[in-house]
Amino acid sequence: MTTHLRGPVTIERIVELDDWPFDVREMFPAHPGAGRISLAIATHLVRTPDRTVLVDAGNGDGRHRPGLPAHHLLDAGYAARLAERVAPEEIDVVVCSHLHPDHCGGLTTGDGRPAFPRARHLVAWAELAWLGAVHRSAPRAGAAEGLARTWCDSVAPVLDAGLVEPVDGDDVDLGHGVWVRTAPGHTPGHLVVEIGPPGAPEAVISGDVLHHPLQFDDLALAQAGDADPAGAARTRHDLCERLARSGGLLLPSHFGPGHVHRASRGFGYRPVGC
Ligand SMILES: [Zn+2]
Repeated sequence: MTTHLRGPVTIERIVELDDWPFDVREMFPAHPGAGRISLAIATHLVRTPDRTVLVDAGNGDGRHRPGLPAHHLLDAGYAARLAERVAPEEIDVVVCSHLHPDHCGGLTTGDGRPAFPRARHLVAWAELAWLGAVHRSAPRAGAAEGLARTWCDSVAPVLDAGLVEPVDGDDVDLGHGVWVRTAPGHTPGHLVVEIGPPGAPEAVISGDVLHHPLQFDDLALAQAGDADPAGAARTRHDLCERLARSGGLLLPSHFGPGHVHRASRGFGYRPVGC
């Protein structure tokens, strides 16, 4: 799906996986229901008159993550699908919403080289500090071991190549109304990309601020991986307020695009075709 905004900017949604199943309580431990839910993994390509920007890089194929079974040895063909839209060396900027493996695994090729060799990679300092510390703690099993592997095979090669430009909390202006802004809570340095006037976005590429539309019923519903559940809930609320006011498009990583509106209890969500 390609979204054309009022100005010269377009956004393409590139799906890595369209059915990534989870038990609802595995994803949202406090959810009152039971059963299975399905997530997607999607990244976004933003084209302005002078820059091609990739927001997140997906999980990547063949990533060895035995401690993180949902991320282990996926084979979804994302890199080839992206290459149908844009050559990797044509990407000028990569924005990493955060450094969980389903967002940064695709930063490198299968043989460990940076996948986007010309791009400046915008990553929050707080993310680099957090994942670097996990790696240095040398975990030997479980999720932490999977995260340490993510540092080694997906982040360190890009850092070593001098391609990472850390973001320290200030907004980053990519031109033509495209801004990188901090949206902490799910992880310490989570970033979103907003397109449009400040405070009244036409579109927000929101990473993991929200994981599934059922969170609109209760914006306080924490996802299992939220590092700071109260902060994540505040960020979800701020984002929904802004989008309900502006009528802008929400483009999340794990479910389809749509519009946020005020509802009797908080907010509702109207998906658009994808
Ligand atoms: Zn994610």
